[in-house]
Amino acid sequence: MGEFDLIQQFFTHAAHTAATRDDVVVGIGDDGAITTTEPNHQLVSVVDTLVSGRHFHANCPADAVGHKSLAVNLSDIAAMGAKPCWATIALTLPESNPDWLQSFANGFFALAHQHNISLIGGDTTQGPLSITVQLNGQLPNGTGLLRSTAQPGDALFVTGTIGLGAIGLQDYPAVTAASQHLLKPTPHVEFGHGLNQLASSCIDVSDGLLADLQHICQASKTGAALDIAKIPLARAAKSCSPEAIVQQLCGGDDYELCFSINDHHDNMHQLHQLAKTTRTPITRIGYVTDSCALTTMDNQLLNEILPLPDDQTTYGYKHF
Ligand code: ADP
Ligand code: MG
Repeated sequence: MGEFDLIQQFFTHAAHTAATRDDVVVGIGDDGAITTTEPNHQLVSVVDTLVSGRHFHANCPADAVGHKSLAVNLSDIAAMGAKPCWATIALTLPESNPDWLQSFANGFFALAHQHNISLIGGDTTQGPLSITVQLNGQLPNGTGLLRSTAQPGDALFVTGTIGLGAIGLQDYPAVTAASQHLLKPTPHVEFGHGLNQLASSCIDVSDGLLADLQHICQASKTGAALDIAKIPLARAAKSCSPEAIVQQLCGGDDYELCFSINDHHDNMHQLHQLAKTTRTPITRIGYVTDSCALTTMDNQLLNEILPLPDDQTTYGYKHF
C-alpha cells in the first residue's frame, strides 16, 4: 500500500467519521490545515513522541499505541487547563502493515471521538517505528494553568493513583490493572479544564511525582511539604519497603495531575464539586512551602528519610 492510499484509508476517512468540528475550515488533504479559533481565547499547543522500544514495547498492541499517543498529549493539555480541539500525527513506520494501522487508528480515533478532537493533518514516513502527535487546545485569555505560580501555603493535591505506571512496567506483559493503565492511561481532561480558574499551578505526572512536583517548586521558587502516608500509592506505603515507595514516587507514566490551590473555603468547595462532577478521585498530599526543598510535614528533608537518588535532579525519568 502506497503512502497516499494509507493516509486515505486509515486516517482521512476515519478523521471525517470521528469528530467533525465546525471550526475546521481545511482539514487533511492540503498543504496545511486551517481552523477558526474562538474569540478571546488563546491557543495551547503540546507535542509528544512515542518511540518503539523506548516508550512502548515493540510488540505492544497497536490500538494501545494509538490510544497512548493521544492520551499523553491530552494529559499535557489538561495540565494547562485547556480544552483539546485539533490534532496532527507524524507517523514513521517500518512497513505499511494494514492490520497494525487499522488497530492503531481504532485506538487513536476512539479517544479522539470521546473528547471531540479532529485529526486535521500529519506526515507519513518510512523508518523505525515512532509516533509524534501534536495537539492544540484553547482556553479563555489568561486562564492557562502554569507551573510557575504556586504560592507558599497553598494546598497540594494529586488526582488518582501514584506509581501505577512504575508497577505496570514491572507487571507487563501480564495483564493487571497497572499494566492496563500503562498501555491505556486515562488523562484527566475535563477535570484539568475545570481547574483553570481554580488551581494556582498544575503539572501532569508523566516523569514521576517527585520529579514533576520538583518542576513546580523550581518554576515557582517554592518547596513542598508532603504527608507521605497520605499519597495514594498504587501499593500502599505501609505494605512497602522504602525502596518500593521510592520506585512509585519516582516512576513515570502515571498521567495524573498534581496541582496547588489556595485552601480558602470557597475554593475547596468548588474543587470537591469539580472532582465529583468529573468523577475524579483527588487526594490532599501536603502544602507549598517557602523553602526550596521537598520535606515531610514535620520538616525533615525527604531524602533523609527515603532512599532517594543522590542527585535531586534525577528523581524521575530522563532521556539524556
Ligand atoms: P505535504 O507533501 O504537503 O507534506 P503530504 O503529502 O505529506 O503533504 O500529506 C498529504 C496530506 O495528508 C496533508 O494534508 C497531510 O496533513 C495529511 N497527512 C499525511 N500523513 C497523515 C497522517 N498520518 N494522518 C493524517 N493526515 C496525514
Ligand atoms: Mg505540501
